[in-house]
Amino acid sequence: MSSANAPRLIDGKAIAAAVTEDVASRAAALAAKPGLAVVLVGEDPASAVYVRMKSEKAEALGFHSVQHSLPAETSQDELLAVVDALNADPAIHGILVQLPLPAHLDSAAVIAAIDPDKDVDGLSVINAGRLAVGDPHAIVPCTPLGSMTLIGTVHGTDLSGLNAVVIGRSRLVGLPMALLLAKANATVTIAHSRTKDLPGLCQNADILVAAVGRPEMVKGDWIKPGATVIDVGTSRVPDASRKSGQRLVGDVAFAEATHAGAITPVPGGVGPMTIAMLMRNTVEAAERKAR
Ligand code: NAP
Repeated sequence: MSSANAPRLIDGKAIAAAVTEDVASRAAALAAKPGLAVVLVGEDPASAVYVRMKSEKAEALGFHSVQHSLPAETSQDELLAVVDALNADPAIHGILVQLPLPAHLDSAAVIAAIDPDKDVDGLSVINAGRLAVGDPHAIVPCTPLGSMTLIGTVHGTDLSGLNAVVIGRSRLVGLPMALLLAKANATVTIAHSRTKDLPGLCQNADILVAAVGRPEMVKGDWIKPGATVIDVGTSRVPDASRKSGQRLVGDVAFAEATHAGAITPVPGGVGPMTIAMLMRNTVEAAERKAR
């Protein structure tokens, strides 16, 4: 993708770096450090990596960073007791319980137990409701929030007159993404596994957000010329040429998207924004508490 007509690459890494720089200066301006607690239950290797990345980023930004690593056999009551203690701790402004939890634990009940004003992942029913009704106190899930920031670098904040298609309707990504796009005045269609003629629908999208988790599902001819493509999906596929034997790919067949106007790479697009937005949500929670 290096020809003159190649799509603009939306550099999530650089944009995330700018966001975290701003977060660091906001954190430094507070009398009390923003406090982020990350809770991990069990030994899922991918979750352990995510948790470590989040804690390290919080430390690098000068936050008070706490990590609770609990054994896989932790009971619901024990986990809820940890959440309660963090809710009551004035040094903690953000609480993140890494999902998925082991199968014997009730994730919905755990998320519901987090103080909504410390729910920096924005996953609680309260924050989902706040977002749905346009309450400015909503804490918005980090991945869609980061994706909106990326879209903003191409289109600004007012998406009037633009058609947006979001593939995926999850509580974590697709649904809040669609709400944010509608709030920014885009005309939004939510597609999912029961959608008919997905390629035809996508061809009408000025902004296409793919949040499915099916490697390279979105083909080049699904993409409207000039469209902005936000690839949220991350899947690992076998790749014998890599030392690890695998590589990360998105939901979009990137090499076929030559006529897109702008596109996020995978990796290096949405991923870095997710952590940056977690930090931003945490500093905002701390700022709200300090007011
Ligand atoms: P999810 O809960 O599994 O939701 C996937 C959505 O895709 C569902 O709404 C599903 O439809 C839809 N879908 C599945 N197959 C489809 C098909 N053939 N055609 C159209 N739609 C289809 O996943 P998620 O948590 O939203 O995450 C989505 C992807 O984003 C995953 O790859 C995940 O790893 C990635 N992700 C990345 C980041 C990041 O920081 N980069 C953060 C979060 C997630 P139904 O509702 O009908 O089942």
